[in-house]
Amino acid sequence: MDKLKLTDLVEENILQEIQDVYISKNRIATSICDADGEYLTDNRDVQSDFCDKYIKKSPEGRRRCRECDCINAENAKESKKISKYKCHAGLVDFSAPICVEGELYGFIVGGQICTEPLSKEHVEKIANELGIDAEELYEASKHLNVLSEEKITEFINDIESFAHVISDIAGNKYQMLKLGEEMEAVSRMKSDFLANMSHEIRTPMNAIIGMADIALRKDLSDEARSYITQIKRSGNVLLNIINDILDFSKIESGKMDISLVEYSPMVMINDIANIIKTRIGDKPVEFTLDVSPDIPGELMGDDKRIEQVITNLSNNAVKFTHEGQVHIEMSCEQTSSNMYMLSVSVEDTGIGIKEKDLEKIFESFQQVDSKRNRNIEGSGLGLAISRRLIDLMDGTMEVQSVYEEGSTFSFKIPQIILREVEPVKVNDVSEIDTASLVTNKYVAVQMEKDIKRLGGSCKALYDDNELKNELERGVKYIFAETKDLSDDRIELLSGYKGTCVVVLLHFNEEFVSDKLNYKSIRKPLYTYNLIKLFNHETVTVEEDEESIVQIDFIAPDAKVLVVDDNDTNLTVAVGLMNPLQMNVETAISGQKAMEMIGQKHYDIIFMDHMMPEMDGVETTRLIRRFHPEYDTVPIIALTANAMEGAKSMFLVEGMNDFVAKPIEAKNLIDMLRQWLPSEKIVPVDPESMKCFGGDEEISIPGLDVTTAVSRIGNTSLYMEVLRNYYKTIPRLTASIKSHYDNGEWEGYTIDVHALKSSSRQIGAMELGSLAESLEEAGNQKDIDTINQKTEELLLKYQQVGELIEDYAKEEEVVISASVAEVSTTAEILEDLMVAMDDLDATAMDDCVSRLKNYKFEDEAEADLIGKLFEAIDILDIDTCEMLVQSWKEAYQA
Ligand code: ADP
Repeated sequence: MDKLKLTDLVEENILQEIQDVYISKNRIATSICDADGEYLTDNRDVQSDFCDKYIKKSPEGRRRCRECDCINAENAKESKKISKYKCHAGLVDFSAPICVEGELYGFIVGGQICTEPLSKEHVEKIANELGIDAEELYEASKHLNVLSEEKITEFINDIESFAHVISDIAGNKYQMLKLGEEMEAVSRMKSDFLANMSHEIRTPMNAIIGMADIALRKDLSDEARSYITQIKRSGNVLLNIINDILDFSKIESGKMDISLVEYSPMVMINDIANIIKTRIGDKPVEFTLDVSPDIPGELMGDDKRIEQVITNLSNNAVKFTHEGQVHIEMSCEQTSSNMYMLSVSVEDTGIGIKEKDLEKIFESFQQVDSKRNRNIEGSGLGLAISRRLIDLMDGTMEVQSVYEEGSTFSFKIPQIILREVEPVKVNDVSEIDTASLVTNKYVAVQMEKDIKRLGGSCKALYDDNELKNELERGVKYIFAETKDLSDDRIELLSGYKGTCVVVLLHFNEEFVSDKLNYKSIRKPLYTYNLIKLFNHETVTVEEDEESIVQIDFIAPDAKVLVVDDNDTNLTVAVGLMNPLQMNVETAISGQKAMEMIGQKHYDIIFMDHMMPEMDGVETTRLIRRFHPEYDTVPIIALTANAMEGAKSMFLVEGMNDFVAKPIEAKNLIDMLRQWLPSEKIVPVDPESMKCFGGDEEISIPGLDVTTAVSRIGNTSLYMEVLRNYYKTIPRLTASIKSHYDNGEWEGYTIDVHALKSSSRQIGAMELGSLAESLEEAGNQKDIDTINQKTEELLLKYQQVGELIEDYAKEEEVVISASVAEVSTTAEILEDLMVAMDDLDATAMDDCVSRLKNYKFEDEAEADLIGKLFEAIDILDIDTCEMLVQSWKEAYQA
């Protein structure tokens, strides 16, 4: 503990009060000072003016008094006992030390007493020495306290007791402060230890899980597969526990921040529902959602933390329920003009909790009923974290439970509303004319409630006669689960094409029928997908027609420039535009684009939003400012961060529109149709242009190739994109590592941003999401998250590389035309050295492509060039230089 002062331990007014009590009792001049001799109290109510008014009036008098005080204090300090001393004027003074833990903190000094009246000669002598009026001094001396030795001893003992009292008060306070500080240090150490430990464990855990994942994709014996599956599963369990510990220690040490962002509660609950339904899987547990349709379209709060709490409560409900239902309810109530109270409850028909355990479960590391729950995984931290998070968000959490019947966990939190965003609603309420064959009571009850709340009707049908009547009447929708659809019913329903049969599917269930006019919806059915259904928006789980891209024009005279720092994106964009027969050129940076538009006129420019050095916005600004001939040329932003309001933002920045990344064929073509000068558009018959979709199917385990191909439009372009992606892995990996090692967060963010969009482009969705979270962390300079996740990102990136290796490498056959002349090779290598000097990656790539046009018959030379390619790939400039030098020495002479 830092060295404290007496006033840190005893307040000045208390010191003054103690002193006043002593003076009023003994009428003896007294003061309390700190260890350095500084007076902390006023010497009030003392009758004699002898010292203060006369002796100390003279500089020499003051000096002598100070010297005496010091000697006196020094004596007390040395002996840690009261010191009695005769001063230069012949008066008795004393000094009682105030000590804490053997250390001196101050004194009570006092005195100005004599044992007999001072003689006139003595007083005159002093007055002469000090240059003060002898008469006045003698008069003052008559008011001094004259006490017997006995009385003085009594006063001295008394003052010593007062010093002890102050020492005790100070000592107690000192102990309290010390204890508090020690406790704080212990708690800090505990949290730091937990945080560090969790981080240290998490990194290798990720490696274990990742490696197990890779191993599982190889050819394995059944036994080995079962062991490795177990390793992966246990690894995941452990990782979850560690994440809980990390969160908990963050909360405990006050490092958990609650952020405020705008979010859509409907989208949030939809994401949660997707997680929960896979958790339930094939268990005989119905999952139902009751989401009030008047929840505002947008709220402001910490959606990630709210999602964490709801997911945790729902996971528990799923874990502890063996049959019946898990039901989530979400509603909102306006509490003031800009505040809403969001209420969520998670109800289950599970094992329930005994009343005596209800409070315990919110404590950390508490699992109750352990005999019954022996095989259920968990850290016992989930509820403790949830409740604390809700506390941090100024909310309240409750639980109600009946043992062996079920539990309901609920919470309420205030959320801000920034601007009114209309809740989603059904456009035409007369559409909601429905009947239901659903026999599952949980589904039926919720469905009826939802449909009525949306303003529609839902008639429950109990037999085929009732069904027939409804069909005859022309009911618009009939709801059913697959088990409610017998062959006879399908036959009956197929006769009424005007009625849409909505088939509600469980988790992995499929339904296909060529007889019915049907739509299938994956459960849970709730407000959100019902509204979409009645508004005729896509909700079916079956493939819809939308992914087939219609090309109804070509533009052979159009000149297009695509600017993007990412090779993969350029390949995609160019590939997608191929069928339109336009002249498409690419620029790998803003600078390059500026150069190109200075030399040539383009009809439209697609501009990546985020690029290193000069980003899309800046490049656009320069084009708009310095190239008036481009005033009417549309510039379309390519952005991976397309959020609400993105378009208006790009408009402000001088762009005309935007295309979200990963780029989808349909969006790009729509954009070209809208923005290309009309005279350059040549309409064609879409039938003759069927070049998208429909070609051979490919699948790569671990990648969502279907989505990726449907976005891009065809498989051959997908393969090209894949090869390109594969090629850039070494360079991008090296760049992420180097930015990370050097703490260059801006470069790091640009790298992970590029990785996000290119990974999604090839269907590596998980890696894409991880990169997205790191991009977010990079933007917010959240170094903790970057430290926690970068290793995992690089590992996943490497795994994706391994996954696609066989597919991406296949066609990397170099079509070697001719043997390279020494002078040609020398020229290319010369250009390469310049490119490296400028760290110009595009120019380096260009040199590599030029070298690849030749074959090197000399084996050593071919080997050297091969090594050179590798070094360029990872931007190992030193090795490049060394290899070029070796080539010159060996071949140029
Ligand atoms: P854990 O990770 O162990 O589930 P929690 O803090 O989330 O930790 O829960 C603590 C304990 O509370 C659980 O171990 C369980 O005994 C009990 N519990 C929580 N939710 C439920 C529920 N829905 N039904 C029955 N018991 C529950």
